[in-house]
Amino acid sequence: SIALPPVVASLLARLEAAGHTAYVVGGCVRDSLLGIVPGDWDICTSATPEQTRKIFSDCRQVLTGMKHGTVTVLCGKKAYEITTYREDGAYADHRHPEAVHFVPRVEGDLARRDFTVNAMAYNPASGLVDCFGGRADLTARVIRCVGEPCQRFAEDALRVLRAVRFASQLDFSIDAATAQAALALRDSVQTVSPERIFTEMEKLLAGPAAGRVLAEFGPILAGALPEIQACIGCTQPGRWHCYDVWHHTAAAVGALPRDLAPENARILRWTMLLHDMAKPLCRTVGSDGAAHFPGHNQRGAQLADRILQRLHAPTVVRLEACGLIAVHDGPLPDNDPAILRMLARHGEVWLERLCTVKLADLAAHARKPAVEAREQEVRRFAQRMHTLARTGCYTLRGLKVGGGDALAAGIRPGPAVGEALQRLLDDVIDGRLPNERATQMEELRKMAGGAH
Ligand code: ATP
Ligand code: MG
Repeated sequence: SIALPPVVASLLARLEAAGHTAYVVGGCVRDSLLGIVPGDWDICTSATPEQTRKIFSDCRQVLTGMKHGTVTVLCGKKAYEITTYREDGAYADHRHPEAVHFVPRVEGDLARRDFTVNAMAYNPASGLVDCFGGRADLTARVIRCVGEPCQRFAEDALRVLRAVRFASQLDFSIDAATAQAALALRDSVQTVSPERIFTEMEKLLAGPAAGRVLAEFGPILAGALPEIQACIGCTQPGRWHCYDVWHHTAAAVGALPRDLAPENARILRWTMLLHDMAKPLCRTVGSDGAAHFPGHNQRGAQLADRILQRLHAPTVVRLEACGLIAVHDGPLPDNDPAILRMLARHGEVWLERLCTVKLADLAAHARKPAVEAREQEVRRFAQRMHTLARTGCYTLRGLKVGGGDALAAGIRPGPAVGEALQRLLDDVIDGRLPNERATQMEELRKMAGGAH
């Protein structure tokens, strides 16, 4: 049985006490059966929205979903969506049902839901309502449409992406008929709003099985991101790669650490997804039979920029991802002055991101000594960079003297002060001057003397 939070149990009980039936439904049932604690609990009921409003008249309510039969009831800090059993009318634009019809029984409501694992309901009195074999599909770990897949994807093109997204989030396979229909109808995803495509893709990229699912369902995802198509089968003979561009991309997404900081996670996932997208546009094959991709970093950044604009991605995500793509293949310095200058320019957070990108990229290469040597380089750089970020001096603020000291040493007020301090910093970075107050004061006095 499913352990309902007390608030949820009392919401169901109040609906039942008023003479209606009510169940928790959808994602929360699926997650509970998988042993995952649900993020939110959705409720469905035979009560009409008006009746639900009256029953919970003592609670704050949000009514923006009323025309779809949903009343959102606020209990404490949490919101619970309570939706009247409904079936959806005809679909005109692959996305929005023309009309909703309320139906008397929960079974009718379950039939409109997308996948069998999402089409189960539960309450303590009746137990699990599972008309479409959702429980068996959970055990078999498979995403399968409720009903005829082609029809269900034609009704709502977003479901094509949701199928792949759930496969990634749950680490499930997709039933053959469902996958075949998703592939056949992939181009209809172009009718889905860019924002929805973006958020579905983000959930997919964040899933624990993202790498496998991207590799396996690239042709379906090309419906959402047409640029994928040219990457599939774009081979890269030579000494580095064992995969075509798309399978390398999928492996690189899959190689990102699972515990990325939230502010880095979305940027890095989009970076890895898009980092080699321009390779098919830049491919040449040398006389030795090896593939080369001149300029693919720069063109990749431009292409990623266009794609992320098209998907209405947040500006930070777009700019940060494109910035990383533009340099993802570049060399890393191994001497302290150069590392300190990079810290001054980009900061520790950005350099850490760059290292994460490079390691995920390399992890998706052939396992060869040359690749391992490069990984070592990145790790050495990361280590030294973090040490220097803590202990090194690479900004004017890190110097042991400031503007007041410069004036006291006799530097003329005005731009000369900044110039003098910058010269000190350059000397410290290059190791010509220790980061010590006495030496730096003396140096300032020398500069002031020289200027007179
Ligand atoms: P999560 O919220 O964890 O991403 P979820 O299963 O709760 O997963 P939601 O998008 O919140 O997904 O939708 C709730 C439920 O509504 C689903 O479980 C499914 O039963 C149904 N549903 C959502 N979107 C669709 C759709 N496009 N077509 C059919 N049913 C849908
Ligand atoms: Mg949900």
